[in-house]
Amino acid sequence: MNSLASPAPEIPSIHLHLPTPQTLFRARADRLRQLATNHPSLAGYLTLMAELSDLQHGQVEESSLTPPPDVSARTCPLDIANRSHGPAWRAVLRAIAGGLAPNDEPLAAIRDRLRAASDEVLEGWAERLLSADFENLDSGLAPFVAAALQVRWTVLAGRIDGRGIGPGEFAHLCPVCSSLPVASVLRSGGDVQGLRYLCCGLCGTQWNRPRIQCVNCGSGKDVAYYGIEGSDEAVKAEACTECKTYLKMMNREKQPPIDPLADDLATLSLDILMAEEGYERIGFNCFLIPDA
Ligand SMILES: [Zn+2]
Ligand SMILES: [Zn+2]
Repeated sequence: MNSLASPAPEIPSIHLHLPTPQTLFRARADRLRQLATNHPSLAGYLTLMAELSDLQHGQVEESSLTPPPDVSARTCPLDIANRSHGPAWRAVLRAIAGGLAPNDEPLAAIRDRLRAASDEVLEGWAERLLSADFENLDSGLAPFVAAALQVRWTVLAGRIDGRGIGPGEFAHLCPVCSSLPVASVLRSGGDVQGLRYLCCGLCGTQWNRPRIQCVNCGSGKDVAYYGIEGSDEAVKAEACTECKTYLKMMNREKQPPIDPLADDLATLSLDILMAEEGYERIGFNCFLIPDA
């Protein structure tokens, strides 16, 4: 027997995957363009979001020059509830605004509104977006505000040591920043195949949750799967008949380039089906927030 004191038990590495900001936005832009080709009716919006992802990618390096976050907390070290946003995200937003196509009239109008907004106005938009309070938040501006916040939180999340981070208080919230998930993906973790990970809509962290168990209420009794006939088999809605909520589940083993945010936008028809069936979505996609 080893006489040395044993180190504190380490949380298994399959518990969470932190984002890699240097590749995440570029890969998302590629996936959005691929989806735009496959979904002509959504091509305009998907292409615009691909361009926005390119602009996000362009800000990662600059944003990484700021000091690393102070992350002593084991749960939610970048909690959206108690971390001040600071000026860094606003600089990212202004840089993204400056990169919007000057020849496109609606985009030029958005760019001008973003550039003219005071720091206080921008902080108000961020506050409403992060707390999912969509009233008084212009749904046309929201993707751009969200894009800047995503860059900041993803860059910070990419720089913390995930080994010390335990599960959050609420299983359906991101253990790094406490945001809601945008979707879940099935992926392999070490030697284990088909683990289910919830994907943070803000910082890009993915955290493990057991399959066939409602993310919202924990019930494993009445979980049902819905899909759109004739469409991609890789995306299903996992629905709980107990609490009437659902979250999309994406099978990366069937469709390796899947990106939770991009593939969620491309499967809007599944959300329409679920609303018709009386289910409420867990979380939201900050690139397509519902009109208040
Ligand atoms: Zn997060
Ligand atoms: Zn439930």
